[in-house]
Amino acid sequence: MDNVLEIKNLCKDYGKFHVLKSITLDIPNGSIFGLVGRNGAGKTTLMRILTGLSEPTSGTYSLAGIESSDKKILSVRRRMGSIIESPAIYKNLSAYDNVKLQYINLGMTSFESIPDLLELVDLQGTGKKKAGKFSLGMRQRLGIAVALCGKPDILILDEPINGLDPQGIIQMREILLRINHERHTTILISSHILEELSKLATHYAFIEKGEILQTLSSSELMGKVRKASRLKVTSTERLCPVFDRECIEYKVEDEETLDIFTDITASKVVALANEANVEVISITDNNESLEGYFMNLVAKRDGIS
Ligand code: ATP
Repeated sequence: MDNVLEIKNLCKDYGKFHVLKSITLDIPNGSIFGLVGRNGAGKTTLMRILTGLSEPTSGTYSLAGIESSDKKILSVRRRMGSIIESPAIYKNLSAYDNVKLQYINLGMTSFESIPDLLELVDLQGTGKKKAGKFSLGMRQRLGIAVALCGKPDILILDEPINGLDPQGIIQMREILLRINHERHTTILISSHILEELSKLATHYAFIEKGEILQTLSSSELMGKVRKASRLKVTSTERLCPVFDRECIEYKVEDEETLDIFTDITASKVVALANEANVEVISITDNNESLEGYFMNLVAKRDGIS
């Protein structure tokens, strides 16, 4: 099976408000699938439906080949781990006891693998400390350990990076990559910050006002982000006519700065500048930011709607 999760024409209305508008998405097996959207785009609503916390108004999804309308979906959903909104942990219990309780809930009788699970999420050595005294990052990581207890095929994480400090973000990223690589767990993860997801996601869907604007793989995204080189020169005014003649695409920032979008070598740039009697002071990469790419997509949608 190529896709662990297939979503077809999923809609969710709250009264007259269409929160999800015919969402169709395939989540490939083994992927880290980033669901990217601004606040209120519908990410949590979609994840709540997929985890069975809410019912769609219409549309279907299938998990591991089982349709959402099939009664078997309840047992198949046990192969799904999730953190929606906040991690499901008990604040008066230690990390070990939280995980043990989830093992018991799942009917597991051997607890030997708990230390490995705590090590995976970097919570080894927290001893008897209660989860209520943990930092936000530790609570999120414990939530992930609890979600992993049933050895799920897919982990669904709603904004797990939200509110973490830079160190916490790096730690979370490394843990998610380990889970994906070592346990081959598919991960569906939402965020409103594309830049953060870009360090781990293999696939993306961009969601805005309940609609999927685009789905693409990470290499497709990198190919679409506009590449630019920023030139610092002694005079853009003298250089531009030469660039025009050579059909080089550029944008002038000020009298000494311009971005070129055509792929040409640094030596060619310097040769053309010499011809225009202009000195090249520096050439640096100035690629379009991922955030910029996403915001352009949103702007295009608003332009046509
Ligand atoms: P955030 O990052 O802010 O959580 P999100 O992309 O997860 O954003 P959702 O929480 O799914 O967005 O909300 C999508 C829209 O649906 C929002 O406008 C929200 O106000 C609305 N909404 C969500 N739940 C309900 C509800 N129970 N009743 C009415 N409207 C709702």
